Amino acid sequence: MKIAIDGPAGAGKSTVAQIVAARLGYIYIDTGAMYRALAWAVIRSGLPADDEEAVSRLLSQGTIELRRTEAGQGVLWKGRDITAQIRTPEVSNVSSIVASLGKVREQMLHLQRELARQGSVVMDGRDIGTHVLPDADVKIFLTASLEERAKRRVDELHAKGYDVEYETLLAELEERDRRDSERSVAPLRRAKDAHLVDTTGKSIEEVIDEILKICL
Ligand code: C5P
Repeated sequence: MKIAIDGPAGAGKSTVAQIVAARLGYIYIDTGAMYRALAWAVIRSGLPADDEEAVSRLLSQGTIELRRTEAGQGVLWKGRDITAQIRTPEVSNVSSIVASLGKVREQMLHLQRELARQGSVVMDGRDIGTHVLPDADVKIFLTASLEERAKRRVDELHAKGYDVEYETLLAELEERDRRDSERSVAPLRRAKDAHLVDTTGKSIEEVIDEILKICL
């Protein structure tokens, strides 16, 4: 059983996908964390994020591992746990730049399909229903208003101790959505056969119930 959950930044994909996977006993795969891990490595190496050859080489020389932990999903780059480092606004922005590179997406596609072979999975991202798992059994397109998504991200970052302004974050989110939707390779799109779930004004529990009803 393969469940694909796609949607724009801050729609609640990872929170919801993680709980849905746990309830169904499936493996959760956060593909955004893979682009974030690469972005973190790019920033650390000082490479220009839009240099397709260099970024692709960095990815082939590194390894990305997703690990289930008590606190959720952990991410490792070359064996180093970088889970706490990949949620910063800088990594968010760079991740959508490296995610627009064709060669990088091709490499990620192979890695992600390999991970999906482990068994029943809930995979979240931007192009899961359209490219990574086009034959997924269930496809969900999760969305929410831009204002609500920005507010959720601000609350999340404040809780982690980051001092971010709502207006700045809203502009960054809008820019990331634009880049993700307008890129030429595997842009963010609702698959024709995806169920649209709008989470605006809904609690996490309500959204999970809605998705479980679609899945079962
Ligand atoms: O989902 P998350 O916000 O963690 O993803 C970070 C970035 O990674 C996105 O803005 C997007 O550019 C990229 N991404 C992607 N395809 C995916 C998952 C994430 O392009 N399947």
